[in-house]
Amino acid sequence: MKLNENGVDHSKIPNSYVPFRNGIMLAIAGAVAEKESAIGIAIGVVEDDSSGYPDCREEFISTFEKSLYLGTKAGNIKIFRPLVNLQKSQIVSEAIKLKVPLYLTWSCYQQENKACGVCDSCRLRLNGFKIAGEKDPILYIN
Ligand SMILES: [Zn+2]
Repeated sequence: MKLNENGVDHSKIPNSYVPFRNGIMLAIAGAVAEKESAIGIAIGVVEDDSSGYPDCREEFISTFEKSLYLGTKAGNIKIFRPLVNLQKSQIVSEAIKLKVPLYLTWSCYQQENKACGVCDSCRLRLNGFKIAGEKDPILYIN
């Protein structure tokens, strides 16, 4: 196990990691939010059972929120992250309760017509549905 000084285990970061993706999206969204005088932005990161992506951690999001406070004229843009401390199965259960059209959601990093079912993102999604006792409504290759 190779931890960097921030406590991130680099050996657990999968090759599907996109360098600083959430940081880039939060920076752009923060700029738009300031221009539009919005009170905040939202992101659907999940820390507990995500793949170990460093930019899905509560610590990263809260630190980025401080950067938005310090780096914007508005100084009051919040980052809403309602899923960050939930398990995938809890998200599935809540989505079904709220009648979210889950057949319109997508997680696969490998395919665009049918999900592969084997990439990290598919495995996490399928496991969340399994633990929640629900059937994933999207199509899979296998
Ligand atoms: Zn996949």
